[in-house]
Amino acid sequence: MTAPSARITAVDTFDVRFPTSRELDGSDAMNPDPDYSAAYLVLRTDAGDGLEGHGFSFTIGRGNDVQVAAIAALRPHLVGRSVDELCADPGSLSRDLVGDSQLRWLGPEKGVMHMAIGAVVNAVWDLAAKRAGQPLWRLLAHADPEWLVSQVDFRYIADALTPEEALALLRAGRAGLAEREAALLERGYPGYTTSPGWLGYSDEKLTRLAKQAVADGFTQIKLKVGADLDDDVRRLRTARAAVGDGVRIAIDANQRWNVDEAIAWTNALAAFEPYWVEEPTSPDDVLGHATIREAIAPVKVATGEHVQNRIVFKQLLQAGALDVLQIDAARVGGVNENLAILLLAAKFGVPVCPHAGGVGLCELVQHLSMFDFLALSGTTENRVIEYVDHLHEHFDAPVVVREGHYRAPLTPGFSATMHPSSIAEYRYPDGAFWVADLAGQSS
Ligand SMILES: [Mg+2]
Repeated sequence: MTAPSARITAVDTFDVRFPTSRELDGSDAMNPDPDYSAAYLVLRTDAGDGLEGHGFSFTIGRGNDVQVAAIAALRPHLVGRSVDELCADPGSLSRDLVGDSQLRWLGPEKGVMHMAIGAVVNAVWDLAAKRAGQPLWRLLAHADPEWLVSQVDFRYIADALTPEEALALLRAGRAGLAEREAALLERGYPGYTTSPGWLGYSDEKLTRLAKQAVADGFTQIKLKVGADLDDDVRRLRTARAAVGDGVRIAIDANQRWNVDEAIAWTNALAAFEPYWVEEPTSPDDVLGHATIREAIAPVKVATGEHVQNRIVFKQLLQAGALDVLQIDAARVGGVNENLAILLLAAKFGVPVCPHAGGVGLCELVQHLSMFDFLALSGTTENRVIEYVDHLHEHFDAPVVVREGHYRAPLTPGFSATMHPSSIAEYRYPDGAFWVADLAGQSS
C-alpha cells in the first residue's frame, strides 16, 4: 500500500540525444540532419512503491538543453505535491502549469514552454497508470466519461465543443467497448510506415524498404517530398512501382511550401495518386490549408505534428482546412489537451492519424489512438498510426508492430520509460557515447 501522504520528491531532468543524423534517418525537406533527442524527466515520490512517472519532449538536437531548462522551470509546481491528488486529477496540475502567469508570457500555450508542460503532464499520467496497474489506453478507455470531461480545458474551444457535447460523445462512444477491446487485443491498431521514404535515401534503398513494408503487412507508406520536384516525381514513381496500386502512399512536405507552391507541387504528383499531403505549408496557416485542400482534392490534406494547441486545431476544423488530423503526444500540453483535440476531431467527424517516429513518439501516441478507437471514434477505418523503426530498443516497453498493426501494450503506464543504460550512454554532452564522439572530433 502506498502511504496516503506520499509526495513528489524530485523532478530529475536529462538531455538525451541520439546521433541519428549520421545515417540520414529522419531526413526531410526542412530537417536535413536531425539528431533525435528527448528532453526527459523522471518524477520521484516517497510512496515507497518504487513507481516513477516518466515523460519527455521530443526535439531534434540543438535546443534540447533549452527544452530541458523549460521542464526544470516547472519543478516548483510539482515538488511537495500529493501523489494521490495529482494522479486522481492531472487536469488540475495542467491548469496550474498553463496558468503560471509569468511562464505563460512565454507562450501562451505554444512552443518550448508548452511542450515542457506536455512532458510533465504526460509523466503524471504515466505515474497514474502505473499506480493503477493499467496501460494508459485502458485506464482512459474505462474512465468515467464525466471524469474525462473534467480533465479537458474548454477555455477557447467552447464555441466549437461544449462540455455537454463532449460528455455526449464519450457516453455514446461507450457502446460496444468490450467487443472493440477484444478486437484490439486480438489484432492491434493499424499503422503505416515512413521508414522507406526519408529524403536522403537512394532509390534502391527506397525500393527495397517499400517492398519490405508491404511484405510486413503495411497498407500505407509515406515519402518525404518538397526538396526537388524532378526528384519527387522519380521517387514517387519508384515507390508506386514498388508497392503496386493497392497500397496508399502519403507524401510529407514538412512545411516546405508557400500555398501556391503546395498546390502546384501536389498536383504535379497527382498521377501517382498520393493519399494525403502532410504539412504542405506553415502549421499556423489555417486559411492556407483550406485553400490548398480545395485545390488538390481528391488528395487529402493532413497536418498536426507542429500544431501548437487545441485552439489552432479548432480553427483548422472550423475552416474545413484538413481531412486528416495528426495529433502528436509530445507537442501540445499532454494527455489532457490531446483529449480535447480527440473530442474536437470526433465532433467534426475528421479521422485522427497520429504523428509518430522520432524517439518514443510511437510508444506514447499508440495509447491515445487506442483510447480513441475504444471510447470515442469507435472505428479504425481510415485511421493509422505512423510507425518508424528507430530507437525503440531504448525503451522498457517498446512498441510491438506485427502485420502492419500496433499490438496493444499491456505494461502499466504510458510506455515512456527509457532504459537507465540508454540515458547514461546518450546523455549530452557527458554520456559515454558523446564523450567518445567529442574526443574523436577534437583529436
Ligand atoms: Mg510529418
